[in-house]
This record gives sequence, structure tokens and C-alpha cells, in this order.
Amino acid sequence: MNCPKCESECDRDEADVGVGVIHGPWGCWSCGWSEDSRYDSSAGTSEAQRESGDGRYIDPCGGSTSIGRLVQSAGWFGIPAGSVHEVFKESIMPSGNASDVLLVPQEDRMMKWFAYEHLPEHLKVVSVKFYEVAASLCAILESGPERTVALRKLLEAKDAAVRSRLHPGG
Ligand SMILES: [Zn+2]
Repeated sequence: MNCPKCESECDRDEADVGVGVIHGPWGCWSCGWSEDSRYDSSAGTSEAQRESGDGRYIDPCGGSTSIGRLVQSAGWFGIPAGSVHEVFKESIMPSGNASDVLLVPQEDRMMKWFAYEHLPEHLKVVSVKFYEVAASLCAILESGPERTVALRKLLEAKDAAVRSRLHPGG
């Protein structure tokens, strides 16, 4: 079927339960419309999304996906965690309401030390690896003293790796 709001082609989840195939609600991946109003995000964050809290993306077909796991999978394809967060921030907040950030896990203040965009290319390739791990950890772990320790150790490792790039054998 086509979306009643934007006329894009809709999709639905199907599962063979042995005695037949069951369907989830029709959903539009273009505008976020869903046959089931709880999953409808075409006019802003959906009810189900709001209830799910941080760390999961609820799609218009009623599916629920862990952002941490997406970040991990994206990493295997060389997609930085930051890009994944950007995509979901936009798809969940079509209205651009900054106070409505549900999905982007609480970023640590330490994330600024993992910034790499400003670095020259030969240091960027080293630094970006650590940024990805740090961002994944922020997505997977709740903030707290031990997460901060993990990030701090990672930062030490990054600095050493950058030094090693600057002075090989040094
Ligand atoms: Zn649509």
C-alpha cells in the first residue's frame, strides 16, 4: 500500500509463526506515518518512541532497534558512530525540536577530547578509531563514574597512538 500522507510505498514486518504469517502495521519509512497510531512519527516523536526512552529506535512498522547495536554494526562498515546518531536524531525529530532528543544517548563531557575533524589527515585516521569506540560506549553504557574511567583510559590510549604516529619508534 501507499502512504496516505506522502504516497511513498509502505512496508510492514512479516513473521511466519508456523501456522501462518502474521503482519505488523503498515508503516512509511519516508515520513514516519504508521497504520498503528502509536508508532506514527509523521507529526513528531511517536508515542511508542516516547515510552521506549533512550537508546532504542522505534520504527513505523513497530520494530524496536538498539541504537548501540546499530552503532556497532555501522562500525563494521566504517561508518562513524557520530553519523549514526545524526541520522537518528533527524529521523526522530522531524520537527527539529532540540529538547526532544530521546535517542541520542547522554553524551559524556569527555567526548570533546575525542574530536578529530580539526586534525590533519595522518592523525585523523588514528583519532577517528578512538572517537568511534568512545561514542559507542556512550551509546551502550549509562553515564556514571566507571564509564568516565573507561573513557579516560581510552583517551590515554588515543594520545599514545597519536604520539606514536608523530614519532614512530619514539
Ligand atoms: Zn509517508
